[in-house]
Amino acid sequence: MTDRYAVIGNPIAHSKSPFIHTAFAQQTAQDITYERLLAPLDGFAVTLQQFQDAGGCGVNITVPFKEEAWQLADKFTARARLARAANTLMFTEYGILADNTDGAGLVTDIRQNLGYALAHRRILVMGAGGAARGVIAPLLAELPAFVVIANRTVSRAIELQRQFSPYGVVEACDYDALKNMQFDCVINATSASLSGELAPLPADVFASGSLAYDMMYGTEPTLFLRFAAAHGAGRCADGLGMLVEQAAVAFELWRGIRPDTRSVIAELRSL
Ligand code: NDP
Repeated sequence: MTDRYAVIGNPIAHSKSPFIHTAFAQQTAQDITYERLLAPLDGFAVTLQQFQDAGGCGVNITVPFKEEAWQLADKFTARARLARAANTLMFTEYGILADNTDGAGLVTDIRQNLGYALAHRRILVMGAGGAARGVIAPLLAELPAFVVIANRTVSRAIELQRQFSPYGVVEACDYDALKNMQFDCVINATSASLSGELAPLPADVFASGSLAYDMMYGTEPTLFLRFAAAHGAGRCADGLGMLVEQAAVAFELWRGIRPDTRSVIAELRSL
């Protein structure tokens, strides 16, 4: 019988996850379907339950439901327990298992696909939502000089700083406090790009030769990447590689087989 998977979010129409998982399934001869599910902002739990009742095997979770997904889970991988946000759920006989593959996806994309080493770098993470939660510990595991988390609602950044400070040097602030600071790697983990907005980032945060990375992806460079290129970033990358890499880790959890990512990234870039 064909196994059913889905990605749940709001908005969801832009998601490339169905394309990616279908490509992985073809590569690895897995008999699955993968669909997009739009959940009402107050209806994530109902949408998840309906999919599970209909025979679904697992889901990916995207903006803005990662923290809610985590709260609904019964079991956790170590990295999901740490993140307190889930981007992958698997329905098992022991209940819902939560994983968070965002950090592994981001670090693999930066280190392997972009060839950029994070050790000793000054890293800025913009945003303190579900995506940021998943990537802080994996970034700290790369032994950067430090990670600064900047968020519009500074209390959420401080909460993350407290949670992750046992794992490395991590600070929290609002955007104003970034004036006169410079970073080697600036990661946009806000959802501002989704609505064509830009967080109030000072123009001089990009150190010479720095990497600007937007977790958002699209056919055109995002506002953040255009801002970064205009203000001294040496290199700009969108989140397409992260998307494919985090999907590969989720696929492996569900199906027990690791797909090839490079061919899928190349195919998506050529569309
Ligand atoms: P959440 O809704 O959980 O968090 C959103 C974050 O963005 C919050 O920190 C929020 O700040 C901030 N924010 C939103 N609008 C603005 C704005 N106009 N100015 C400044 N800050 C803003 O979303 P997620 O964390 O789940 O997702 C964030 C982004 O990352 C999305 O674009 C998502 O598509 C992308 N993503 C991409 C992945 C990939 O594989 N490429 C994987 C995961 C995420 P506040 O707390 O003040 O509200």
